[in-house]
Amino acid sequence: MLPFSRLVTIGLALTLAGCGMGTGPALRVKGIAVRASGYVEAVSAPGFVDLPSPNMNDRPEQVRPDCVVWHHTASRASARQTGRYFQNPEAQVSSHYTVDRSGEIVRSVADDRRSWHAGPSAYQGRNNVNDFSIGIEICNLGDNGEAYSAAQVASVAHLTAWLIETHGMGRKRITRHRDIAVPAGRKTDTSDNFPYVEALAQVAGYLDGKIQPIPVPPPTSVDLAPDRGFRTVVVPPGLATWEDLADAMLDSPFRADELRLLNPAWPAPHAGLPVRIPTDYRHFDRLHPGGQLIPLFR
Ligand SMILES: [Zn+2]
Repeated sequence: MLPFSRLVTIGLALTLAGCGMGTGPALRVKGIAVRASGYVEAVSAPGFVDLPSPNMNDRPEQVRPDCVVWHHTASRASARQTGRYFQNPEAQVSSHYTVDRSGEIVRSVADDRRSWHAGPSAYQGRNNVNDFSIGIEICNLGDNGEAYSAAQVASVAHLTAWLIETHGMGRKRITRHRDIAVPAGRKTDTSDNFPYVEALAQVAGYLDGKIQPIPVPPPTSVDLAPDRGFRTVVVPPGLATWEDLADAMLDSPFRADELRLLNPAWPAPHAGLPVRIPTDYRHFDRLHPGGQLIPLFR
């Protein structure tokens, strides 16, 4: 016996034959909303804090978003602080969404625009993943030490399921930056301790209507203890410039100057060298005063 939702999909596929694909207005069949694409609308829209970023451009003509890429921020900054960082043109990076440790979602770039999150990349044989993807940053140090909170994972899954449904993506069109970066091995996000399999299962649960979103309370505190704005890491093999290290560790080659600032004794990194890497955006702000973080809460 097919589940009811599948029957609805099949029924509508017949009813709507010739209507073409697209998200379009949702129809209602016995109280269940069904989009013209044939997707049963099971996922309610999550709430967003909008902090529009200028770091974006048009997608290529006729190209629509049809996959979701998960990242970690490699930072202790909140989603709102990350959104402020994306608002600085000097940052030269962005992502459509950033999910806070609390579960709060910040939106930086509209879905129909091309945000700058993936860099050189390929997904299932198709290059330039920024052209056809939606990027989701997940606030985490990316050190395999900081755990991802249950509220954060739930929020990532809810947002992803809603995007899949809204844009009529295949439900398996989810990937991680580490899986699409070119050359292979250039990126490590999301970190090994991100519960990837659990998050994928939750996306399916939302799409099947088996998980109902819970309201996300506004963030009220930063859980992480204060630090000096950097941590020490040992340079892995294959990274010969500060740009390489910034790309690998901070998810942006445009943050190399912060590494120079924090490691004045070394002209360049080499494998095995202990170096300081920033844990938030304060050093970026020192170098680019126009991008000062605005504390929106605390
Ligand atoms: Zn990334």
